Formats: sequence, C-alpha cells, structure tokens
Amino acid sequence: MKTGLYPGSFDPITYGHIDIVERALKIFDQLIILVSVNPRKQTLFTPEERIDMIQHVLAHKIDSIEIHTSDTLTVKHARKLGATHIIRGLRALTDFEYEFQMTHANRALDDSIDSVFLMTDHKYSYLSSTSVKEIAMFNGDLSTFVPPYVQEQVRKKHRLGKMSSLSG
Ligand code: ADP
Repeated sequence: MKTGLYPGSFDPITYGHIDIVERALKIFDQLIILVSVNPRKQTLFTPEERIDMIQHVLAHKIDSIEIHTSDTLTVKHARKLGATHIIRGLRALTDFEYEFQMTHANRALDDSIDSVFLMTDHKYSYLSSTSVKEIAMFNGDLSTFVPPYVQEQVRKKHRLGKMSSLSG
C-alpha cells in the first residue's frame, strides 16, 4: 500500500487543496493530511478547527484519508507514519522557488522521502487560504473558493471580529 503525506497550514482548506487531495488519491492508496502547528505562525483557525473543516469537506474520502497535526519536521512524520512521499500542490511559478528550497532541505534531512508535485486545476491556480481570508474580511462571495461548511466557519470568525488583526 502506498501512502502519501500532504502537509500544509490548511487555514482554511480550500477547493485548491481538495483538488490536490483528489489528484493524489489517484496515485496513492492512502493519504495523510498533516496540519502544521507552528506557534510562530499566526493562523485564523486553531488546529482542531482546521481538522474539523477537513473532516467535513473530505467526509466522502474518509476511508483513504487520515488527518494528523505536526509541530515537527515533515520528513520525521512521513517516516514515522510510513509515508514514502510528500505531496505538494503547485499553482504558479511563484510557488516554485519555495518548494524547490523545501524539497532540497527535506532531502538533506532524509533522502528516502521524496516529494511529488501536483498541478492544480487552472481555475484554482489563483486561490490561497490567504485570499479567502482577505475576501471574507470585505464580505465578498466565497462560494467558488471554499465549500459551504468552510464558508460558514470563516463567516463565524468574521462575525466574532477575529479577522481584522490577521494579515496572513
Ligand atoms: P503552507 O503553509 O505549507 O504553504 P498551505 O495550506 O498554504 O500551507 O498549502 C499547503 C499545500 O497546498 C502547498 O503545497 C500549497 O502549494 C498547496 N496549495 C494551496 N493552495 C492551493 C491551490 N489553490 N491549488 C493547489 N495547491 C494549493
């Protein structure tokens, strides 16, 4: 059985992330979604809230997905959980530089774990969790960016006034 590890902030999960999950499941039998917990990185949602949204929107894939959190190196998790590859999504050339550095850093740490890059559908190539948060701040329509359940959670944060201090 081939297992892939898809790490990210997922703050919140978007249709772009979901597109990558669906593509990855055509290659891997099992996918571990690794939600990063980085106390130095300000997030809108807590790790528990991010996991809850992932569980909701990927309920139809739940047999082939596991969700974990991570506060350590991704390669360490991959090895511990039996994943052979790290999966990352590519949107545009702007993602390349960062992913290039990360891949080589990961290889230096553990050469047995390789990375696989999947290109998103062009309609999601402009989409990021950051743009979702920015659009929500100005009450814009989120329906083409995130599933209805995630829209509700983002709106809830907005109503609670949690978004004004958030830049990323
Ligand atoms: P990170 O903080 O690790 O970049 P993100 O949640 O922003 O976490 O992204 C996780 C992964 O999903 C990254 O590989 C990113 O390139 C990819 N990703 C994010 N948004 C999209 C999208 N719209 N289409 C395809 N891949 C995406």
